[in-house]
Amino acid sequence: MAKKDYYEVLGVSKDASDDEIKKAYRKLSKKYHPDINKEADADEKFKEVAEAYEVLSDAQKRAAYDQYGHASTDPNFGAGGGFGGFGGFEDIFESFFGGGGRSSNPNAPRQGSDLQYSINLTFEEAIFGVEKDISYKREESCKTCSGSGAKPGTHPETCSRCHGQGTINVERQTPLGRVMSRQVCPDCQGKGQTIKDKCTDCHGTGKINETHKVKVNVPAGVEDGQQMRLSGQGEAGINGGPYGDLYVVFRVEESKTFEREGADIFYELPVNFVQVGLGTEVEVPTVHGEVKLKIPAGTQTGTTFRLRGKGAPRLRGTGNGDQHVIVKLVTPKNLNDAQKQALKDFAEASGETVVSPQEEGFFDKVKDAFNGRKK
Ligand SMILES: [Zn+2]
Ligand SMILES: [Zn+2]
Repeated sequence: MAKKDYYEVLGVSKDASDDEIKKAYRKLSKKYHPDINKEADADEKFKEVAEAYEVLSDAQKRAAYDQYGHASTDPNFGAGGGFGGFGGFEDIFESFFGGGGRSSNPNAPRQGSDLQYSINLTFEEAIFGVEKDISYKREESCKTCSGSGAKPGTHPETCSRCHGQGTINVERQTPLGRVMSRQVCPDCQGKGQTIKDKCTDCHGTGKINETHKVKVNVPAGVEDGQQMRLSGQGEAGINGGPYGDLYVVFRVEESKTFEREGADIFYELPVNFVQVGLGTEVEVPTVHGEVKLKIPAGTQTGTTFRLRGKGAPRLRGTGNGDQHVIVKLVTPKNLNDAQKQALKDFAEASGETVVSPQEEGFFDKVKDAFNGRKK
């Protein structure tokens, strides 16, 4: 029996508005509702109205119906199948408009999965770069069968149940009538192919787990948490597709001496008040070796000196960052008698009241004097 035109079913014109379609549907669905209408063909007409409304109330489905007619609602439209009946709207519209991806060819080559690997680096390795040999397990394409999964000399065959589609159409009964839905083919598990004689090395999977070794050139200047992509070092592709990628994540150890922020390095220089009081020259450690630094007389604690180019290399850019030397005044402990006397003399020369070394706060006063915060 030929299907009636959906516009005819609802009794509206081809250019009917959404509102007109909705009104027509409301009227007719009430009229033919099986609970109300006891005529023999009421049930049939009710379904017809529901089907027409389902298509014409959806802009995409209506557009496809206007262009392709009833074929647009056939689940096998464009797929070469032999099913009749209505339904399967979702499936057919996904294949029309590129949604879902269920209709994609299961035999198309696809890239393998990406993998992740953490590399631990010392503070210096991260700054200067290093070459690291790493090894990890990954799925590789089986060499015996070249990834086909079939015994050498044989080939996988197109699945006879789904004809290589990887999916089959299944009929379901719903209140709207019979509906077609798509399912993964149980014979080939969606692969679209079956293998009669399986490769004995990979048992038909086309892949084997292998320990894979890679040399990683860690660039100078990497930081903790940064990652690097190694193209093609992930898992084997599907249907001859390319290998996935390996993401190497760097874990950088902290330094006992330095702090790092990007390309800049921070170093806290401990000095005593004689050094900052009189001025001095000190050897400062940097990741590039010791560097001489002049501390002028009267330098305050917290003063920062910059050693240009003594930081880490700039990963994106040229040259190195700087090393920042932060002066930190350290108050001496356990002074001997001669040192105590020298400080008393100092205080006296500064016009301070000379106090007993045992008196509390004495050293704080001396320290304050050096810091220029006379009480
Ligand atoms: Zn199949
Ligand atoms: Zn194999």
